[in-house]
Amino acid sequence: MKILGIETTCDETGIALLEFIKEKDLKFRIINHQLRSQIKVHSKYGGIVPILAAREHKKNLPILYEKLLKETNENPENFDYIAFSYGPGLPPALVSGKEFVFNLAKKLNKKIIPVNHLLAHIYSVLIPKNRLNIIQKIKNINLPAICLLISGGHTILIYTDDLKKFRKLGETKDDAVGESLDKAARILGLEYPGGPKLEKLAKKGRAIFNLPRPMIGRKDFNFSFAGLKTAFWELVEEVKKYNKFDEETKKDLAASYQKAAFETLIIKTKKAYEKYKPKSIIVTGGVIANNTLRKMLIKIFSKDKLIFPDKTLSTDNGINIAFTGYFFVDKAIEPEKLEIYPLLDI
Ligand code: AMP
Ligand code: MG
Repeated sequence: MKILGIETTCDETGIALLEFIKEKDLKFRIINHQLRSQIKVHSKYGGIVPILAAREHKKNLPILYEKLLKETNENPENFDYIAFSYGPGLPPALVSGKEFVFNLAKKLNKKIIPVNHLLAHIYSVLIPKNRLNIIQKIKNINLPAICLLISGGHTILIYTDDLKKFRKLGETKDDAVGESLDKAARILGLEYPGGPKLEKLAKKGRAIFNLPRPMIGRKDFNFSFAGLKTAFWELVEEVKKYNKFDEETKKDLAASYQKAAFETLIIKTKKAYEKYKPKSIIVTGGVIANNTLRKMLIKIFSKDKLIFPDKTLSTDNGINIAFTGYFFVDKAIEPEKLEIYPLLDI
């Protein structure tokens, strides 16, 4: 079975063609995948401009699709389904993806599998190395599991017994942790997306500044990162007042911010772990590309309990979407139904 996966929820345009081979086990191969980041377009604005994201997706989707066809010599008639990430995401960006998918599905006379973007982040941990057994990989995940989903747009703790049904335990009430790292980086004068740049700077710094760990005293599993960002802004203003905003201090500030944000994530996850006693902890989404966070998590929870996606799959891409789509072929719809497809949350 061949599934084309399309991702346009944020600032990455992703297209992937996957083939699933079901014999005595289940294997897949990535026939081709294309990914175009819009970082250059948005960085001068310090963050993602939704309407520009939509324009870029519209421009890039046909280019990447043609590139995929050219590199593979595939006949699109042979695709079985088109999976696409219907949300959650930036509404204008989603509309661009939806239009492209609708027109392509109509032209090729194919059904569409609408894939929840958050689920695709979770399912990214089920993706084995190319051509290896998927069923085995899934069996290796001990259930129940809690999942910490940390990306540019989301910070959610989720519980699952079976990787099919998911229960939200808590989520951020304001900024997502990725967004907060990007904003802290911006306060330090780093370019968008700041998360990876903040990590690099923090590696050479000491976490010597005091910053809050928001909402850790509460019983629930919700997060808040807006106050932490404001506290950081105030701290940086103080530092500037005393003319101490030099390269060395910036490193210490970066390390302090990262530590406060990551400790908050870990404290909340630990509370959920103690309450629900899961056998695994899945951590997924763009922020788990951060090595410091991976190390901090491993220190608190044993390594065999933690499940991370492959680093290349932690940020948005078409592979995750096509892969997740495979598990929902029974939910495939005719293109016309897409117009009324609800933007479901997890
Ligand atoms: P996503 O929304 O899943 O595409 O993830 C994007 C978010 O992940 C952005 O907020 C990035 O700043 C953040 N991110 C990516 N790499 C890193 C990293 N190495 N450290 C911290 N945050 C990161
Ligand atoms: Mg994402």
